[in-house]
Amino acid sequence: MTARKIPVAILGATGTVGQKLVRRLEHHPWFEVQFVAASAASAGRRYADVVRWRETTPLPDRIGDLIVQPSDRPTGLPLAVSALDTDAAATIEPLWAGAGSVVVTNASPFRLAPDVPLIIPEVNADHLELLAEQRKRRGWRGAIVANPNCTTTGLALVLAPLHRAFGVDRLFVSTMQAISGAGWPGVASLDIVGNVIPHIPGEEEKVEQETRKILGSSTIVSAHTNRVPVVDGHTETVSIGFSQRVSPDTVLATLAGWRASDLVRALPSSPAEPVVVDPRPDRPQPRLDLDQGGGMSVTVGRIRPCPLLDVRLVLLSHNTVRGAAGATIQNAELLVSAGVVAR
Ligand code: NAP
Repeated sequence: MTARKIPVAILGATGTVGQKLVRRLEHHPWFEVQFVAASAASAGRRYADVVRWRETTPLPDRIGDLIVQPSDRPTGLPLAVSALDTDAAATIEPLWAGAGSVVVTNASPFRLAPDVPLIIPEVNADHLELLAEQRKRRGWRGAIVANPNCTTTGLALVLAPLHRAFGVDRLFVSTMQAISGAGWPGVASLDIVGNVIPHIPGEEEKVEQETRKILGSSTIVSAHTNRVPVVDGHTETVSIGFSQRVSPDTVLATLAGWRASDLVRALPSSPAEPVVVDPRPDRPQPRLDLDQGGGMSVTVGRIRPCPLLDVRLVLLSHNTVRGAAGATIQNAELLVSAGVVAR
């Protein structure tokens, strides 16, 4: 990598995920934030004056002094990372791709489009080959590459090595999802404190469809998604049915030994272990295990027989890091390493 950093625009820079992008890009070895954009309501003002900074490290002065730009005026920068609100992303991201930027997005509008790679680098970096078709069909000089929904990411990371080795036919997943997954201000405190909300609009469909697209499988997925009073960290209890006999010990060994390709392991945001297996009987827990691998590892515990399907387990992933900002930046790094974004 050359000493010159690649200039990056952040779309949706003022939101929950946008702030995490600002924080994680501040000392990034390859990228430098040059442009921050948000809605018309924020545009034209200093970032520090419009953002409701929720991160636990101070807002970097250089970014705080940037003037927020309207998101719908593309700059032609080579790389734009997007944490735009869903509806805004649907119209704004194609403008940037058409103007020559590679847009790496958290937002959902294009995730299931057949010509848009939905990427977790450790799992399906090869899906970047869809970009040739995307550019041909849409006439874009740039591109759109998406990362999955925060709940799907942890699940697909755990399923991928198991599916590859044994074939995952069916699975049942029930989630306990953190409040930060709903952005800011998110769920009203009177609704969520001391409570569980058994409905997250559109989430079950996203988990079911995105998991199949990433794995390239026809796995039957039954998802139950719930919002719980946890700030960060999505916990998922999963029962897995395989197409052959597989024991819990084999699942444990497969997950514990799984490593990404050399190219993916060399990316600055990749954790040493994509999946960390914790043998303690009461783990993982969001308050204690969220920051494994800098928030980029998924922690798995309680791998045991399942009387309904074959094997059951619990997984925990950091929804705004591995499930959002960290995933986007790791995908941007992959695009540089793969030569899609020029160094
Ligand atoms: P958020 O806190 O509500 O932030 C939304 C951002 O979009 C803000 O910067 C906002 O700017 C901007 N925006 C809203 N309407 C706009 C418009 N009409 N034109 C241009 N910009 C507009 O949401 P979030 O939680 O950060 O989520 C961002 C995206 O990531 C969403 O698509 C979400 O589904 C996805 N995602 C979130 C998570 C998570 O854990 N939170 C995980 C995975 C994916 P203003 O401040 O100016 O309004």
